[in-house]
Amino acid sequence: MILVKIYFLLVLLFCHFIFSSSVSAQFRSSYATQAPSQSQSGRKTTSQPVRTGGAVVYPQFKSSYGVIRWLKEQMPLKVYVSRGLSIDGFIDEELGAPVANVNNLAKWPDLVAEILESPETLQGLPVAPGFTAEHYQAATQGINMWKPFEKEGLVSFILTDDPSDADIYVFWVHHFVDKMGLALFSGDIRGYTSKRSFPYKAILAGGRADFKPVVIMLRTTESNGISMPFLKMRAACAHEFGHALGIEDHSTNPADLMSVYYGNGVISANDAATLRYLYHLTPDLIP
Ligand SMILES: [Zn+2]
Repeated sequence: MILVKIYFLLVLLFCHFIFSSSVSAQFRSSYATQAPSQSQSGRKTTSQPVRTGGAVVYPQFKSSYGVIRWLKEQMPLKVYVSRGLSIDGFIDEELGAPVANVNNLAKWPDLVAEILESPETLQGLPVAPGFTAEHYQAATQGINMWKPFEKEGLVSFILTDDPSDADIYVFWVHHFVDKMGLALFSGDIRGYTSKRSFPYKAILAGGRADFKPVVIMLRTTESNGISMPFLKMRAACAHEFGHALGIEDHSTNPADLMSVYYGNGVISANDAATLRYLYHLTPDLIP
């Protein structure tokens, strides 16, 4: 098989997540060299949103670069939720601010890939101030809110304690900072998700994608300094995991989990309809 490097650079920046694509050191490519499967591309996309029982597919699920979602071949996705580990101790010397600042979302997967290359570095990561054991429980509960879709054959995932081999990583931070190192407490942004995506067609044509980990970062502390309450943390992680699964932008309906207001903190009928719709489309890009 001819291996063709994909030179592809795209950066999208939204409020809670990043999507980008580029070439760098290989992180994970176990499925990149698999033979194309007809069944993956056999499903036709439709332009009309699906309505089920009054639920609405919000069109913001789709990025301006097209449909992004994982393939069956990548599942079950392995999700590593760290026990409070923080990656904001790595300082960009030019900026004098953490490498993992929110203006640098596109580089988070690189940073994490680098950390993962060295077990000592990973083991030496500090625990984010404000992190509690309840936060871990809240995060895993939030992620597991998406479990019912496994029965429908849409997505499947497992939580793993092995940080060396996961697709999606959850890290923690006391508060987010921008590239100036200034704390961001405006609004109610409790998390960010950063991911790389690769053109599906190029992979089907034999291209090799240099996959990077998808990185979720969650804030441990509210702007008033108190520990993030359990339900708020659970909603935040469920929301970020929705981005990790491929829902790109935000529903404009504040009652939806995937709105910037986190809805009622649980997956709404619209969120469910949107994920179902997304996973019946042929992806343009895969994480
Ligand atoms: Zn978001």
